Formats: sequence, structure tokens, C-alpha cells
Amino acid sequence: MNDCMCPYYSLNKRTLNVLTTMRCNAQCRFCFERDTARPCEASTNDLIAAINAVGAEEIGLVGGDPLVHPEINRLILESNAKDIYLTTNGIALVEDIGILEPASIRKLMGLNISIHAPSIAGLQKVFGREIPADYFIGVGAWCHYAKRLNPAVDLRIHCNLQRGVVDSMSNAQEMIRLAESLGVDTVRFVELQSLAGKDIEMFVDAKKDVFKNFESYSEALLNPNRDGCIRYLPRLSERVRTEIKTICPLTTVVKDFTVEELEEGLATLELLHQREVEGNSPLRVLYPDLRVSTRYDDSLTNEQRSYEEMRELMLERIAYKQSPEYEIRKKDAEIA
Ligand code: SF4
Repeated sequence: MNDCMCPYYSLNKRTLNVLTTMRCNAQCRFCFERDTARPCEASTNDLIAAINAVGAEEIGLVGGDPLVHPEINRLILESNAKDIYLTTNGIALVEDIGILEPASIRKLMGLNISIHAPSIAGLQKVFGREIPADYFIGVGAWCHYAKRLNPAVDLRIHCNLQRGVVDSMSNAQEMIRLAESLGVDTVRFVELQSLAGKDIEMFVDAKKDVFKNFESYSEALLNPNRDGCIRYLPRLSERVRTEIKTICPLTTVVKDFTVEELEEGLATLELLHQREVEGNSPLRVLYPDLRVSTRYDDSLTNEQRSYEEMRELMLERIAYKQSPEYEIRKKDAEIA
């Protein structure tokens, strides 16, 4: 495994994110690759060899934008992974509908298109660049083309929740209507992760700020992974599935997690550890031992913690949340 490979905390499969390139045709302020200095311009041969050596069942091709990788079709076609997903901002699909060859599209299990605003003006603000006026028409045309070639391909919009762009239920409904018109299968609302300094002002809490009416959407233990937990929303559309990807209390402190969320994170950690001990963890193949990658201050540096260290940290955080000291601080903050 090389620095371009990031295993997920998947419970059921050997899953791997592959950082295909650092280059991107957009400049999002919240991009968590922006300030990292990971070497990720490995040669195509090295990337393919590393993917196939790990033997991952599922890979996510990410970036940067994988579609600016000059050999993206080769990467897809020569990888042995059964399930291949690719995440793009869609600009390259609009500029060249044929950028992914038919054989590549037929091999894809899913494609995530990062559309973080329901209007061209909003997208320009988020992507930090001019967006073609026909961007939505182009994405819709590509989605129909892809479905004709591969009816099973799962097409999903990723919409990062962002203060001032998509931060309310009415914005979410606009995104859902857009998703319906584009012909995708799913729209996934995503809480921003790995924010630092003043960027924290951009953070939107999915449950508190947007989907306030949903008491419970917890299926986190079914699907925890490296950078969040997928939860299903009650049906908001006849045609598209709606999901939330919430940040995981094991990996970040951006959000003021409730005791319930912290306990859920701890339960996830215990489950991962138990599978590790029993020897049936998919992670065993990817990591020699269970180490959780965390960001526990407002820097953008990942720290690796062992199961024991991580467990202690989570117990401390739960105890603090339940302590009189926390209650006093909360009251003081409310008064201020
Ligand atoms: S599109 Fe994705 S990779 Fe590109 S700058 Fe935005 S967040 Fe980063």
C-alpha cells in the first residue's frame, strides 16, 4: 500500500479510497486535500499494482478530480476490484461527454457527482471558478448516456452542507428537485469534515440545522467508514433516495457531538476491535493493527491512535459531556 491508498473503516468489505491525483479543475474552500502535502502523483502502473496487491473488493477513485487524471480509463479497466466508485465534480463530464469510455462506464458500480449548490451562481461560489451555463444540462445528458450503457450504475449527487449555500430544509428540497431532473438515483447530503480555523464557520449540522424534523436517522453502525457514517432519511422524493453522511465522532471534533453520538462512535470502535481480535476484520488486510485516524484539534493533521488510546479518549469525552463542569460551561455560553 502506498500514500495514495486510504482504507475505510468498513465493517463488511475490504474497501479502499485511491487518491488518483491531487489536481482538480475546481478550488473549493473546504477541500480537505487543499492543505495536505500527501504525495499522490504515483504512476498509473504503481497505482494499479497497489490496488491489485491489496486485493480490495471495493475502491473509491477520488482526488483532486479523478477525471483530470490522463489515464483514468486505464485505471478503471485494469483494476481487479469488484466494485469501483468514482467521485467527480462533473465539470469534465460536461466539457467532454466521452471522457469516460463506454467500457469504463460499464465497469463502474457507481459515480458520485459533487454538486454542492442548486444554481450556477451557487456552484461558481463553491467551486471558485466559472461554471459553464449549461452545466446542469450537461450533467443530465451524461447521466442519461451512462444509464443507457450501464443501467445498474448507481448515480449519486454529493451535496456538502455549507453555511450560506445549502443550510436549510428548503435548500435541501431544491437539491432533491435538481437530482430528480438530472435522473440520478440518490442525493447524499454531507456534513463538512476536516475544517480548520475560520472555515469552521462554514459548518452545518445536518440534524440541528437542516433535517430538524427527523427524530432518528441512525443506521450508523451498518455503514461507518473513514470519513463519516451514512444514514438514510425518510423518503423525501418518489424518484431519488435521500441520505445524510454525518461526520464520525471517531475522526473529528468539528461538531459538538451529543452523548448519544459519542456512544455510537464508541460502539463502532468496539465492533471494529472485536472483529479485529476475532481475525475476521477486513481491515486486517489493510492495516497490520487497528489504528484510527483522527483530527482532534483544529489543525489539518491526521493522527493515528491505537484502539486503547482511542477508547480512552472517547470515554473521557463522554464523561466530560455528562459532568457538572460541562453543564456550567453550556449555561455560561447560552448567557453570553
Ligand atoms: S471538487 Fe473536490 S477535489 Fe476539487 S477542489 Fe472541490 S472538494 Fe477539492
